[in-house]
Amino acid sequence: MRYYVLDRGDQLSVDLAEQFHKLAAQHHFTLDAESPEIVISIGGDGTMLHAFHTFINHISDIAFVGVHTGHLGFYSDWKADELPELIELMSRSVTSEHANPRIVKYPLLELEVQKKSGTTSYIALNEFTLKGVDGTLVAQIDINNQPFEMFRGDGICVSTPSGSTAYNKSLGGAMVHPSIEALQIAEIASINNRVFRTMGSPLLLPKHHYCDIFSRKDQRLLLTVDHNNIPIDDLISVRCQVSKQKISFARYRPYPFWNRVRSSFLG
Ligand code: NAP
Repeated sequence: MRYYVLDRGDQLSVDLAEQFHKLAAQHHFTLDAESPEIVISIGGDGTMLHAFHTFINHISDIAFVGVHTGHLGFYSDWKADELPELIELMSRSVTSEHANPRIVKYPLLELEVQKKSGTTSYIALNEFTLKGVDGTLVAQIDINNQPFEMFRGDGICVSTPSGSTAYNKSLGGAMVHPSIEALQIAEIASINNRVFRTMGSPLLLPKHHYCDIFSRKDQRLLLTVDHNNIPIDDLISVRCQVSKQKISFARYRPYPFWNRVRSSFLG
């Protein structure tokens, strides 16, 4: 098995990565930074975001496994003290036809950002946000090429189902099971008056729909794509939709989504 390990950089995560390499060598796994089959993220859900973006150009060939150095997370099925058990199950999946991991695929979000200076595409695992830097964001929102609303406020957050438990949740968005191929648009502190009128509740768009956000004044904006911050001062529009690509996770044991939700937020 070709594998790669990405850790958060804190001492516990670095030590666990070392331990993983030792155990992997005993099981004859091959460390491969270029074309791994399995990428192990050691740290937190934030570390998985880094791992995803590191291998974004190879995601159709990779399955991810998350080890959490704290509590179990949304992208992390394994705790620090469970590393030997994980390696054992991984090695059995190589030697036995019947013990393969279940590959679970989650939807992603794609966005095309049109600027006066050119067009750039991104893929998000959690979400993207668009926010005003100097003041409020002023933007026209269209859905499927039809004008929907004129937005004025702090910003807009568009999340994937697996990202719905992150920033989106803080904005009052719904938690969406990742088997539902949809994107969610949530407002960040919208202003509502006679000129600017927004729906005020989060919207869920199915995978064949798309949304355009048109900048409606000269404004310095901050685009965030997961943990990445991208300043933009010449935005024309952002088009977003559910991506044709998906991220794959290797599940060596079941950990249902609603159990993750319960244990993360209710304890
Ligand atoms: P961070 O500010 O260091 O951590 C953000 C927190 O979000 C961490 O506790 C992280 O868990 C958790 N998280 C990440 N993905 C999640 C998911 N899918 N479901 C539930 N919780 C999740 O930033 P970061 O580690 O670079 O992560 C970037 C993410 O932070 C963004 O994608 C955004 O979703 C989130 N964020 C949230 C807010 C907010 O809620 N107000 C504001 C800005 C950004 P771990 O501790 O396990 O890493």
